[in-house]
Amino acid sequence: MTDATLLPCSDDTLAARLAAIRARMAAACARAGRPADSVALLPVSKTFGVDLIRQAAGLGLTRFGENKTQEIRQKADPLADLGLQWVLIGHLQTNKAKEAARDAAEVQSLDRLDLAQALQRRLDLEGRAIDVLVQVKTSSEDSKSGLPPADLAGFLRTVARDYPTLRVKGLMTLAVNSDDPHAVRACFRQLRQLRDTMRGADIAGIELDRLSMGMSGDFELAIEEGSTEVRIGSALFGARHYPA
Ligand SMILES: *Cc1c(COP(=O)(O)O)cnc(C)c1O
Repeated sequence: MTDATLLPCSDDTLAARLAAIRARMAAACARAGRPADSVALLPVSKTFGVDLIRQAAGLGLTRFGENKTQEIRQKADPLADLGLQWVLIGHLQTNKAKEAARDAAEVQSLDRLDLAQALQRRLDLEGRAIDVLVQVKTSSEDSKSGLPPADLAGFLRTVARDYPTLRVKGLMTLAVNSDDPHAVRACFRQLRQLRDTMRGADIAGIELDRLSMGMSGDFELAIEEGSTEVRIGSALFGARHYPA
């Protein structure tokens, strides 16, 4: 986890990229008639090394999105002095619930009851509760995980009733990979509409204020459709290089 990726990214580069992203977020908010502070930025640090994350923390970023519990573990120790919060956004295997309950401040990829149950058990042992978002599948691609929209109401009721260590704060989705902005926008719109429907169903203890949607390639569309949180990796940190 050391930093080949750091070399092309000087302090200036990272600061400039962050400023450019914030400007684009503000412009999208303005187009949508929304206040600029209504959308948060979650930097996604998966595959990037601790030196680059430390640099980002120096620019005021405190929460970082990661896909894997092992990667959080590797990074959390050398960065412990910074008090960062780690947010799990990737598909989480049930047998990793222990690591998630120990190291994650939040899980945005809650997408099934066996995972909720495993997290509940481990969080109980840790004596902690965490914020969670329910990941919903808004595209038909097999590669994407997420709860089917039709299952959402029942899922939320069960979590609210049986899993008190999981504080459901909202919904998360990944849009379809497509060059067609209408298809991408439709995914985001579906998530917002589902949220509105669930609010109407008035499920006790659940407020759903947050919609985590939008990544480097589509965050402006997501903001126009109501995102409250965009998850940005490559537009901020540069291209990802996965080990072979
Ligand atoms: C990697 C990842 C992102 C960030 O992707 P970029 O296109 O690099 O911005 C956002 N959300 C999830 C769930 C991811 O896995």
